[in-house]
Amino acid sequence: MSHTALEKDDCEYIWHPFTQMQEWEGQTPLIIRRGKGSYLYDMDGNAYLDATASIWVNVHGHQHPRINQAIRRQLTQVAHTTLLGLSNPPAIQLAKALIRLAPKGLRKVFYSDNGSTAVEVGAKMAIQYWQQCPTPQPQKTRFIHLGLSYHGDTVGSVSLSGVEQFRRPFSSLLFPSHAIEPPHCYRCPLHMEFPQCQLACLDSLEKLLHTSHQEIAGLILEPMVQGVAGIIPSPPGYLKRVRDLCTRYNILFIADEVATGFGRTGLMFACEHEEITPDIMAIAKGLTGGYLPLAATLTTAAIYDAFLGEGHEGKTFFHGHSYAGNPLGCAAALANLSIFKSERTLAKLQRRIPKLRKALESLSDDPWVGDIRQCGYMVGIELVQDRANKKPFPPDERIGQKIAMTARTLGMLIRPIGTIMILMPPLSASVKELEQMVSILKLAISVVRSSRPSFSVQT
Ligand code: PMP
Repeated sequence: MSHTALEKDDCEYIWHPFTQMQEWEGQTPLIIRRGKGSYLYDMDGNAYLDATASIWVNVHGHQHPRINQAIRRQLTQVAHTTLLGLSNPPAIQLAKALIRLAPKGLRKVFYSDNGSTAVEVGAKMAIQYWQQCPTPQPQKTRFIHLGLSYHGDTVGSVSLSGVEQFRRPFSSLLFPSHAIEPPHCYRCPLHMEFPQCQLACLDSLEKLLHTSHQEIAGLILEPMVQGVAGIIPSPPGYLKRVRDLCTRYNILFIADEVATGFGRTGLMFACEHEEITPDIMAIAKGLTGGYLPLAATLTTAAIYDAFLGEGHEGKTFFHGHSYAGNPLGCAAALANLSIFKSERTLAKLQRRIPKLRKALESLSDDPWVGDIRQCGYMVGIELVQDRANKKPFPPDERIGQKIAMTARTLGMLIRPIGTIMILMPPLSASVKELEQMVSILKLAISVVRSSRPSFSVQT
């Protein structure tokens, strides 16, 4: 099929996710034919640095020979069988490997196929757990989530998310959940500074738990970094204190490691930064190295045990997706984990993360760069009109989008969130590639600035 026929058919037949299709139809779609390492190539063979890791999933680069081989090998056996009433070798081996890697105390793996469902499963597990645990408390039916949080697109995961724009059209469907202030140090809602604040943003959580813990089933958060919120790292001690509060007030702690898991923050799981174990942990994205849709919800023996009983007791967890534990996905995930070991991915990251930080310093004197936030290979660069008062750009100006489109012409794919430029390189990206990403971004920002009519330098 010709290049132009594909472009035409894309507009004719595909409804793209998170995309205003009216705008899309007015543009020529960029069609990616292949990838290699940190690069993607379009139909004409033009190369682009994949600075989004293909929406935060890619780990060891595109076309890694060992993941390719693992999938091919599994294809000689079977592509898919169900986990409903059956099992398969890659799903079994992967569950064992995940439990060995996960924070101590997590014992069981419940498979699904994307991050939203992994979260939704966690929420449903928590609700049913309180009905069936040794001292049942069925009135525990509410959750707590962080403002600005993002946990996925299903009705349950949107109910637990704090992005107003994504909630509004579906408000009639969403279940109620308590939102607490996020730990957003650059725009602290309490106008305080860390460490003098002593994590004052958690005082309201403590108050809420004090008055309402009897009705609260669990609290969900993205450990260490709120991703879609604009890469907002939590200050040191925050995660641990939330975990302690959940334990003290007897509510379940659900860690959404969908974005942060598999090395993204520099450690295998973000929970390790503060040595905590959640009661429930959702993983997806990097699980298969960014190859295939696979997700899992991990939990403790205490939660799992509450679901045991005779069939007629109705304690079964009635949830399961057709592609849960898909053998091809699990084979890819096993290869992904084995590459972490053989290529010493985490050790290499420890050396490269400071180099990425150093490269990012070159952006710090840009008049539009208000804040540079980094946790491992998750970077958010918040652009502002005025650094002194942190005045944001008007959303209609679509500054982030303009910079991303300029970066594309310079050979890099980047997807901003509003005016926050996100760099999310594959973990295999070399120091040179990281430096290139930063310098393309720097150049793209200055190109857009120089074409902005009302531009005036405000430092
Ligand atoms: N949780 C977090 C923290 C995420 O970042 C995402 C996706 N960006 C999800 C859940 C949802 O994952 P998926 O897109 O695979 O449904």
